[in-house]
Amino acid sequence: MTVHDIRHNISFFRQERPPVYFDNSATTQQPDEVIRAVINFSRYTNANPFRGLYDLSGEATAVYEAARKKVAAFLNISDPRQIVFTRNTTESINLVAECILRTNHPRFRIEPGDRIVVTVSEHHSNLLPWQRLARITGARLVFMEPDSTGLITDAEIESRITDRTKLVAAAHVSNVWGRINPIDKIILRARSVGALTVIDGAQAVAHMKVDVRNAGCDFYAFSGHKMLGPMGIGVLFGRADLLEQLDPFLSGGEMIEYVTRESATYAPIPHKFEAGTVNAAGAAGLAAACDYIDKIGFDCIKSQVNTLTAEVMNGMREMEGVTVYGSRNPSEHNGIVSFSIAGCHPHDVASILNEDHICVRAGHHCAQPLMQFLGIGSCVRCSLYAYNTHREVSRFIDCLSRVRKVMGY
Ligand code: PMP
Repeated sequence: MTVHDIRHNISFFRQERPPVYFDNSATTQQPDEVIRAVINFSRYTNANPFRGLYDLSGEATAVYEAARKKVAAFLNISDPRQIVFTRNTTESINLVAECILRTNHPRFRIEPGDRIVVTVSEHHSNLLPWQRLARITGARLVFMEPDSTGLITDAEIESRITDRTKLVAAAHVSNVWGRINPIDKIILRARSVGALTVIDGAQAVAHMKVDVRNAGCDFYAFSGHKMLGPMGIGVLFGRADLLEQLDPFLSGGEMIEYVTRESATYAPIPHKFEAGTVNAAGAAGLAAACDYIDKIGFDCIKSQVNTLTAEVMNGMREMEGVTVYGSRNPSEHNGIVSFSIAGCHPHDVASILNEDHICVRAGHHCAQPLMQFLGIGSCVRCSLYAYNTHREVSRFIDCLSRVRKVMGY
């Protein structure tokens, strides 16, 4: 598929003068077929899944469960019971942390002096739940520190993940400097000491073939809206034996087997973790997004994203006062270029770009410990996807090169 084809399939880009959308790490634009899948569910299949004995409810259930199978296949998982639908990455990770706290089983026991290991570059969504777990259990939260290019070395992995480590949580790809973390090595080391592994795949799933089965992690979390899908639907992969052992997250309708006045038994996985009416329309949209990404192909996505990233970084190299964070190699950025311009507040840079209808993100990117590590309060982030064009990059670079002048330098 060409960039032109992809843009043609997305209404957002068919507008007369669409903005230059370079905030894809926050949310991606949705292809028409994703929007159609959501609308079609609401138009023709709108009934409460699992609850009705009439055909329409059965059809709604079928759409929802087909979406689960599609997502499982997308991640190379053969057992769809291991896919729990949530609202987003944040909810998926909170689910794991809260359920670990509630479950009285030796597999999930965390005691004072044990270690919970994360990286310094985590999004707050993959940090705060572990801070809370550490605070309540008395465990020590330990950080793997990257080098200045964003790389976590083998030595760092070996030394931080010790025999006392009970859980390791790491982003597959950082949302600030786009660095792909060595999750294979992290998972291997964690498994060798008997620790649980939670991978935050929010920035990975739209960019690379994620083979969860091969990766060997215990949990893998991501959001639909960062992979061409709708907002409000997220995914938690969990190993079946662990999901079975964990106590539920929310309780109420649809997650039970049998209820008496005083107690309840729970439905089999994954339904035990999907209390209340589910987001079936969102799941249908996410399934369509998986199909659409497969149709573009990861080779095509990677090649377009890396080419554009190189253009952005080359353009910035010519500019005075620009600092790019992370690796100097564009192919190690996963389409994310975070930067500062000397003397210009990131919010001013984003506002000046906005005047030219260019959307970038400025702030701490929900990764304040990484900002502290970099010695900054905030930065600007340009994040690219397969539907962005050379012309958009030229416009961005052109506008950026005028920022210092606008600011009076
Ligand atoms: N983790 C990472 C690496 C992210 O980039 C994001 C979104 N910026 C999240 C977690 C949180 O995703 P959501 O807001 O969809 O829960």
